[in-house]
Amino acid sequence: MAIATVNPATGETLKSFGAMGPEEVERRLATAGAAFADYRTTGFDERTRLVLRAADLLDGDRDDIARTMTLEMGKPVAAARAEAAKCAKAMRWYAEHAAALLADEEPAEDDVRDSGAERCRVHYRPLGVILAVMPWNFPLWQVVRFAAPALMAGNVGLLKHASNVPQTALYLEDLFRRAGFPEGCFQTLLIGSDGVEKVLRDRRVAAATLTGSEPAGRSVAAICGDEIKKTVLELGGSDPYLVLPSADVDRAARTAVTARVQNNGQSCIAAKRFIVHTDVYDAFAERFTAGMRELKVGDPLLEDTNVGPLASEQGRTDLEELVDDAVRKGATALCGGSRPEGSERGWFYLPTVLAGITQDMRIHQEETFGPVATLYRVRDLDEAVSVANDSPFGLSSNVWTRDDGEVERCVRDLQAGGVFFNGMTASHPAFPFGGIKRSGYGRELSAHGIREFCNVTTVWHG
Ligand code: NDP
Repeated sequence: MAIATVNPATGETLKSFGAMGPEEVERRLATAGAAFADYRTTGFDERTRLVLRAADLLDGDRDDIARTMTLEMGKPVAAARAEAAKCAKAMRWYAEHAAALLADEEPAEDDVRDSGAERCRVHYRPLGVILAVMPWNFPLWQVVRFAAPALMAGNVGLLKHASNVPQTALYLEDLFRRAGFPEGCFQTLLIGSDGVEKVLRDRRVAAATLTGSEPAGRSVAAICGDEIKKTVLELGGSDPYLVLPSADVDRAARTAVTARVQNNGQSCIAAKRFIVHTDVYDAFAERFTAGMRELKVGDPLLEDTNVGPLASEQGRTDLEELVDDAVRKGATALCGGSRPEGSERGWFYLPTVLAGITQDMRIHQEETFGPVATLYRVRDLDEAVSVANDSPFGLSSNVWTRDDGEVERCVRDLQAGGVFFNGMTASHPAFPFGGIKRSGYGRELSAHGIREFCNVTTVWHG
């Protein structure tokens, strides 16, 4: 895949970059290794100062970097600005909390005595150079939610970003440099996916995190398995959105529209499968479809656009194939189901609601990375949970109910890394984020995220 900015709204190539050659990659690996040797010894005060400075700079750059993101991957510019603001917030959150999250822990006195120790503590040390392989869909956020905790923990970062967001990737390197981080603490590698294995196998790289597709995750995990290096994987999702009879159906339908089309439908935690109790199915389907139909599809640089183009031509082709397969096998498009009329340029696709989904359709099992929702009618909670869990993915889930018994049942039984009631899934720096099954493993954000790339060290004094 060429390393280039191609505007998804027009198909026009705006800027191309050559991949870094082996010598440049080697130079950057050496710089990263050297940077870690010093940076690991810095204290939390110093790291906090640097991360807060990066947050301030990012706030100042918000409009410019938002426009760059929109030109590179097509998200509505208002959402791009919100993404930049969220990144600054996460940086500040980790700057404020990292010292407490990584404070020494003391085992219970009884256990210390039982071990024969005088004193004992658990100490969190940084791991080293971490390679982050990142996707284009939240080109700032996906990186910052790795970088902020990693840098606060004393690690250093190497970023291999998606090939279609090179300007955002270079911006991130520059941001951390301007914030005053020592040379090599955060560097971008402009390389294709074929250059990742060599970096992963390099002895100076301690671990890797990847957000993206299953094949990419499988490859990185296999190589790191071979090298015995830690990985965190955040892969796809096909999150269920259950609407039960006690739900506020109006709110559930309005939120469903946002939950499905956020980021032009290209979000791992977007609700994708809408599983609705038969008592409220007709009301929900009608309001949800009306909401999807009203969305304004168009130029993502315009402030009032709700849904921009898909990030790539291939992404739209993949989505069209899933919809066409479902319709061929009997699904009904309640709205959308095609490109907008007269859209010759750009990779646009209409917000779509498909009803009548059956198990033989690819869309039942595969992730729809675009503004396409599938609707299921179920007769009770048992069937709702069973349909929800009938997926290879297990990232997050959403449930609309006011019944406490149903809440407990869903917390117990839904196979996912999150259960969000009467709202939509959203990440927050304080809450763990990640999935099970083919959605990956490990957690980002919160205490869990910052500890993933730490050497959890037992310190024992006899
Ligand atoms: P990819 O997984 O191909 O891209 C994500 C990142 O992984 C990019 O940096 C990419 O680099 C890199 N990569 C790809 N293949 C490998 C590999 N074999 N070894 C190492 N790194 C690799 O995602 P796509 O952009 O192709 O999107 C395809 C599908 O993936 C989507 O339709 C969606 O289902 C899912 N996806 C999920 C995301 C999420 O948030 N969970 C985000 C993006 C995609 P390069 O760009 O150079 O190929």
